[in-house]
Amino acid sequence: MTRIRPPEGSSAPHPGTADARRLVVVGHGMVGHRLVEALDSRDTQRRWEITVLAEEHRPAYDRVALSSCFEGVDESALRLPEHDPGRVGLRLGDPVTALDRAARTVHTASGARVPYDALVLATGSRPFVPPLPGAEAPGCLVYRTLDDIEDIRAAAAGSATGRAVVVGGGLLGLEAANALRLLGLTTHVVELAPHLMAVQLDEGGGALLGRMVGELGVTVHTGTGTRGVATHARTGAATGVELTDGTFLESDLVVFAAGVRPRDELARDAGLQVGERGGVVVDGACRSVTDPRVWAVGEVACVEGRTLGLVAPGYAMAETVADRLLGGEAAFPGADTATRLKLLGVGVASFGDAHATTPGALEVVLNDPVAATYGKLVVSDDARTLLGGILVGDTSGYPLLRPLVGSLLPADPSVLLAPQSEGGAGAPPGGVGVAGLPDSAQICSCHAVTKDELTEAVTEQGCADVPALKSCTKAGTGCGSCLPALKQILEAAGVEQSTALCEHFDHSRAELFEIVAATGITTFSRLVAEHGRGRGCDVCKPAVAAILASRDSGTHILDGERGGLQDTNDRHLANMQRNGTYSVVPRVPGGEITPARLIVLGEVARDFGLYTKITGGQRIDLLGARLEELPAIWRRLTDAGFESGHAYGKAVRTVKSCVGSAWCRYGVQDSVGLAVELELRYRGLRAPHKLKAGVSGCARECAEARSKDFGIIATEQGWNLYVGGNGGFTPRHAELLATDLDHDTLVRTIDRFLMLYIRTADRLQRTAAWLESLEGGLDHLRAVVLDDSLGICADLDAAMARHVADYRDEWRGVLEDPAKLARFTSFVNAPGTPDPAISFAVERDQPVPVDLGLPAARAAAEVSTR
Ligand SMILES: Cc1cc2nc3c(=O)[nH]c(=O)nc-3n(C[C@H](O)[C@H](O)[C@H](O)COP(=O)(O)OP(=O)(O)OC[C@H]3O[C@@H](n4cnc5c(N)ncnc54)[C@H](O)[C@@H]3O)c2cc1C
Ligand code: SF4
Repeated sequence: MTRIRPPEGSSAPHPGTADARRLVVVGHGMVGHRLVEALDSRDTQRRWEITVLAEEHRPAYDRVALSSCFEGVDESALRLPEHDPGRVGLRLGDPVTALDRAARTVHTASGARVPYDALVLATGSRPFVPPLPGAEAPGCLVYRTLDDIEDIRAAAAGSATGRAVVVGGGLLGLEAANALRLLGLTTHVVELAPHLMAVQLDEGGGALLGRMVGELGVTVHTGTGTRGVATHARTGAATGVELTDGTFLESDLVVFAAGVRPRDELARDAGLQVGERGGVVVDGACRSVTDPRVWAVGEVACVEGRTLGLVAPGYAMAETVADRLLGGEAAFPGADTATRLKLLGVGVASFGDAHATTPGALEVVLNDPVAATYGKLVVSDDARTLLGGILVGDTSGYPLLRPLVGSLLPADPSVLLAPQSEGGAGAPPGGVGVAGLPDSAQICSCHAVTKDELTEAVTEQGCADVPALKSCTKAGTGCGSCLPALKQILEAAGVEQSTALCEHFDHSRAELFEIVAATGITTFSRLVAEHGRGRGCDVCKPAVAAILASRDSGTHILDGERGGLQDTNDRHLANMQRNGTYSVVPRVPGGEITPARLIVLGEVARDFGLYTKITGGQRIDLLGARLEELPAIWRRLTDAGFESGHAYGKAVRTVKSCVGSAWCRYGVQDSVGLAVELELRYRGLRAPHKLKAGVSGCARECAEARSKDFGIIATEQGWNLYVGGNGGFTPRHAELLATDLDHDTLVRTIDRFLMLYIRTADRLQRTAAWLESLEGGLDHLRAVVLDDSLGICADLDAAMARHVADYRDEWRGVLEDPAKLARFTSFVNAPGTPDPAISFAVERDQPVPVDLGLPAARAAAEVSTR
């Protein structure tokens, strides 16, 4: 397909002005597209006539989101906004083959000659294929374009081995591995460095990422090179990959993702200076140092001696050149190589001096093995200035930590690394918001927008919401990671904020709950198609999954599309631990357990070599199970009458109790009986956050019920009900909601309290924060759940009745379904093979994980969330 305006090779004046000068842009990738957009929007007098010559047959598309095509997204959704056809002549599928600098003309493959007054090279990079024996064989592919996707799909469909090998464990390699996995191939990744994503991550972050990737069925080989590709004697096609450690990986599909090289061949042939490692050498204005009429932007430009493989610096170059072409004095602000990505569902972020190369730099590491998150902050030798950081698993602190680089730390590093979710939705790390950032801090690194500029857009230009800020400043229109900071800037300026869940839904979580309730929608894809936009993100997907689960306890959380919305722990119905093993936490209602069941727990722990520990929630953790052991362990446990304890879910965890009137001389009510009843009633109930409860048999409060989301304390006349307490990061005592309730009223009131919370709370908002945010506070809550002031109690009661009737044990659901059972293998290509990376030591006669070898500074700030 060829499309061109104005006619090819034309040097006729552009319709804009008679003396318009001719700009030719070579390459219509993301950066070439941005340049044209930037110039078009600013060149109001039409001083430039723009022609774009593109090699690919499609107009520019979002290459960063390429992999979403393997998840069912249509390629049309990736298309970047079309240029004004009356303004920009775009020729597709006709690459430039030569530059004639003397004649100021470019030659294209179709034989056209296109003259220019200014020429911008935006030709990007090509994947690097190492010069290995067999690397060119049929079956060896690369991953860069939509056409490559078609090739990979075709090769996967025709694969006889059902196996694929990706050479390279960086960003592109992992994206390719995910694609191959989604195509149903058993996939191996080979990486020369000792861990994945060696450019962005350190050993600890890389190790966690490797484990999480392995858990998805991709086998990772780090610290080993590739010797060559073996080929078929007759057909010459790839049959496998030989590694330098002697391993042979059988596979007829090999994807090379071992880095990229700038496409500077036109520049070389035309005598323009190129860098030592390639790339057109440009000055601070992105202008060729050899020829002032030639500019280079994006991955093909060599700035300050290096090329940059990320889109944000490319956009900054495009803005610089657009300004210069119109007589401005902009300069490339320098490369911010900060990255925040999602790889195979695992969040990864790296910013500033992530590898602590600054002399004297100190590292503070927070490793949360239960939540499978790793965070590191690099600080100056006096521990006062933030230099950089790495986040794996939970990257929600990134938007506010990255702009702090180079600034004085507003809080202790370990506090800054604390998980955001503990503070409620959108809470800044360690309570530090944009208010703590200097005015010059760059909030949006994709578009180099500072806090100052954003504040001015709000106060001077009247931007009243995030969309207005986005269109006014472009902040938030790139990777989107700064959107929470934009909200905070609006809040700080006193502008009332939208409660939209995320950029894919204009509704709050509570509104979405009502929509789901009113429409009966049962899938995320229908909800986002009918009431949202786009493909969803890691904010809305789990939030909607929880809404759907809390309305429909009868459908298993791993059934159909729901399985894909869950986070790592929910996906395996177990919490992943620091060495990649899992916890097994059966429910022990009210903490009451028979000797026979206690013996079963002991036998299972002994037979599978598990570590045992009695928890604060009055149950027994069995730790150290390998993924593939979980079904066998749970089969033994379910046969003995145990059920899932939901230690992995945002759900009701435990109802702790004291021994109460049955045994205690002071007890005035049967606290154990009530705790057992309540735990069985609410087991499996999914909520915006975890829920814990307690029942004490008298005012002495041995069960610590007032530190729980709901706590009950016996009185001579009945029960006092307390709500909204929690331990954790910000401990809070529960508040007294009602006194001296009889049994039935008590249960009904808790039912309504829980259902109202589930219906109206924000995502990741615990009951304490919810209660604080509730207009009218405790009085309002009392009026709603006791006096039915809103007339919704019948609904709340019915919803709880449905939950109680529909509850099914999640682990039993897995054991009865072969498809769900298949998820529990460490290596999908070799079921039953244990992960060799997992090993144990013995401490106090029990197995404990062998350290992952994380940096020593980690010890400074380790937490466990159990
Ligand atoms: C799968 C994948 C995931 C990625 N994820 C991220 C990410 O998460 N974050 C991030 O920052 N970056 C990511 N990147 C990198 C990002 O896509 C690139 O940095 C960005 O696309 C560079 O833009 P560019 O315009 O310089 O080059 P390109 O987008 O490569 O565009 C160059 C264009 O020029 C064309 N061209 C080349 N030679 C000629 C010629 N002689 N004549 C005419 N046209 C020519 C090419 O065909 C191409 O269309 C990812 C890349 C891939 C492939
Ligand atoms: S709370 Fe009261 S009833 Fe329960 S154990 Fe303590 S003293 Fe006994």
